Amino acid sequence: MARKGNLFVISGPSGAGKGTLVHRLLQRVPDVWASVSATTRNPRPGEIDGVHYYFMDDAGFDRVISEDGFIEWAHVHGHRYGTLRSAVQDHIDKGEQVILEIDVQGGAAIKEKFPKAHLIFIAPPSFDALYERLCKRGTEDKDTIYKRMETAKVELSLKNRYDICFVNDDLDQATDQLVSYVNAQAEQMM
Ligand code: 5GP
Repeated sequence: MARKGNLFVISGPSGAGKGTLVHRLLQRVPDVWASVSATTRNPRPGEIDGVHYYFMDDAGFDRVISEDGFIEWAHVHGHRYGTLRSAVQDHIDKGEQVILEIDVQGGAAIKEKFPKAHLIFIAPPSFDALYERLCKRGTEDKDTIYKRMETAKVELSLKNRYDICFVNDDLDQATDQLVSYVNAQAEQMM
């Protein structure tokens, strides 16, 4: 069956498992393309420039803003993050399933600019589970974890604005749900 290009936003609190789910989606669905955002935050150990993010200083980020190079950008956890305009539309036009893993502010901005975008929310099984996962990940200090938990409260309160919500309790089950949803949109009549 012919597949049409789509734009998907994947949002959810830090630690809900969005990154792992997108990684698994990329392995399971060949025409999925995940956009790489720009950020002013520092790379975590193991993160590679151009793969996980385009890491920029404030001046570099300002330059992209002045050139209208972002489809959307937002302050998240005290840093700036933005979706680069280049490539996203090209990939949709090529018939691919374009994934933006962005926060809830970004999700709202994308829905306004691209009303046909599909908004997917990934929720943790509980608030406590989220805290445990963030602590276990060990990549953030106490202060940062606190900030992320505060943001998580706001994000969870906005999940009703999303088209669909998957609870990432069981990773395999959440992966299957995400894969089925993306395939269903791709196979919708043109
Ligand atoms: P992290 O620092 O953990 O990689 O990401 C922090 C948050 O920023 C996550 O909620 C992530 O979805 C969001 N984020 C990443 N890239 C973008 C982007 O381009 N735009 C927006 N609005 N949020 C983003």
